[in-house]
Amino acid sequence: MTDLNVSSEPVKYNPDFAKEIYALESGEHVKLCMQCGMCALSCATREEMDYSPRKLFLLMRVGKREEFFKANTMWMCSTCLMCKVRCPRGIPLADVMHDLKSHAIKLGYTERPQATFYQSFWQEILNKGRVFEGGLMARYYLKRGWSEMTKGLFEMRDLGMTMLKHNRMPLKSPKSIKGLKSMKQIIERAQAQMHREEGR
Ligand code: SF4
Ligand code: SF4
Repeated sequence: MTDLNVSSEPVKYNPDFAKEIYALESGEHVKLCMQCGMCALSCATREEMDYSPRKLFLLMRVGKREEFFKANTMWMCSTCLMCKVRCPRGIPLADVMHDLKSHAIKLGYTERPQATFYQSFWQEILNKGRVFEGGLMARYYLKRGWSEMTKGLFEMRDLGMTMLKHNRMPLKSPKSIKGLKSMKQIIERAQAQMHREEGR
């Protein structure tokens, strides 16, 4: 007789990680997930993801924190909103994915290039109130390192030349927007409010 080595002991899950995710701005909605799989079927970038959104939520429920944050799923979400439209429970998955990215960065899960790109984009916005492609790429490659820079610049040379030809990538950094100080104050207030709500 084959020994299947199956324990009769009930599997114990650690619910703390799920509670942490439920406490995020849109996290409460994830409680409603019934694992139907509609998001996985609808997702535009599912083929590029380590786990579908459905499976990612399952990892969360069983407390697999490292697997959850190390998966590329949240980073491959293109915010196409198809899953949000089709989810029978009305879960705003794109908003949840945004929360997850932000949370992952706060916790230091920044090794993925998409995380670096998000951070660089945000810093560029805070700097001038608008995005200057040259500044964005400089920030990105300064963080990613020399070898990625040479590889990336080589791979994107055709795209870069086409953008330059069509005036889609200015070489000179634009001026800051008017009211940059006010914009920063609005962001600081919004962040303070978000931290208060997350701490409740
Ligand atoms: S479609 Fe909605 S309910 Fe279904 S698995 Fe995805 S998130 Fe969960
Ligand atoms: S919003 Fe993100 S997770 Fe949802 S279908 Fe689009 S790419 Fe997939």
